[in-house]
Amino acid sequence: AKSEGRARYVMYDADRNARQAARYALAADMPDALDRAEFSVVYQPLVSLADERLRGVEALVRWRHPVLGELSPDVFIPLAEETGMIVALGRHVLRTACAQAAEWARRFPGTPVFVSVNVTVAQAREPAFPAEVAKILADTGLDPRLLVLELTESAIMDTDGAPPAALDGLAGSGIRIAIDDFGTGYSNLAYLRRLPVHILKLAGPFVDGLRSADASVDEQIVETIVRMAHALGISVTAEAVETRPQADRLRDLGCDTGQGYLFARPLPPAAMLPLLHDADPV
Ligand code: C2E
Ligand code: CA
Ligand code: CA
Repeated sequence: AKSEGRARYVMYDADRNARQAARYALAADMPDALDRAEFSVVYQPLVSLADERLRGVEALVRWRHPVLGELSPDVFIPLAEETGMIVALGRHVLRTACAQAAEWARRFPGTPVFVSVNVTVAQAREPAFPAEVAKILADTGLDPRLLVLELTESAIMDTDGAPPAALDGLAGSGIRIAIDDFGTGYSNLAYLRRLPVHILKLAGPFVDGLRSADASVDEQIVETIVRMAHALGISVTAEAVETRPQADRLRDLGCDTGQGYLFARPLPPAAMLPLLHDADPV
């Protein structure tokens, strides 16, 4: 039994080493992958729940790896954070998304859609971040009011508990700030009063809870969050909306915006065009 245990331990260890080696290899690939333009950005529609018309998009990064195929950001974003590569990658996504949104705004001037870009705390804490954002806006010609930066709750309230100082300046320029995945971390509305937050993105678990037969507790939680957010002048976006009953309930509970497979999957830019045409009949 003892040797069996040992063998199992060795196997587990080999397994873990192999996984670790694969992670290192992937991390080491990233700088070249950026140069080789293997990272692209897809856009998931955000609709107003009242009329279900397109209002904005969330920019989501994709990595088409030459050997491994399309990789999920859930795999490579944490890696990029560990190596610091997130700063260059994040800059690339921000620039790509702003250029895309600016082009759409020029082409479809009747109903400009905003673009919401994910920002990690490492990025937001870079001293050069605000200047970089300003430069990207100037270079691309995107109206700052059409840019939303999404930060997670835990990122904003990390270790020292102080939000990135850059947020105030960014918000002052007309850029909006969204709290991503609200409800998965501290779920504490108190800090929202001290932050220039404009949008709260309700995470999947809350939205998911509205599915079950006994959804009344979840409904009350959502209703309370919405009421408090609105009292603070913050609008609420529901994430991962997958069914018609969910969308209807979320709208009735006061959520402003919806995002999810019910409305649309993340789309490459070309696939966004018909939606933009519909949203902008001029
Ligand atoms: P997130 O910011 O919460 O983005 C939403 C995720 O939910 C996306 O996954 C999206 O495809 C997925 N989703 C959309 N609608 C539905 C739905 O109806 N049901 C379900 N179950 N899921 C839905 P994706 O694209 O795989 O991205 C995963 C995460 O990776 C993102 O979560 C975000 O945290 C991170 N990420 C993606 N792109 C970037 C980026 O450019 N920069 C940074 N820092 N992080 C990124
Ligand atoms: Ca997000
Ligand atoms: Ca989210």
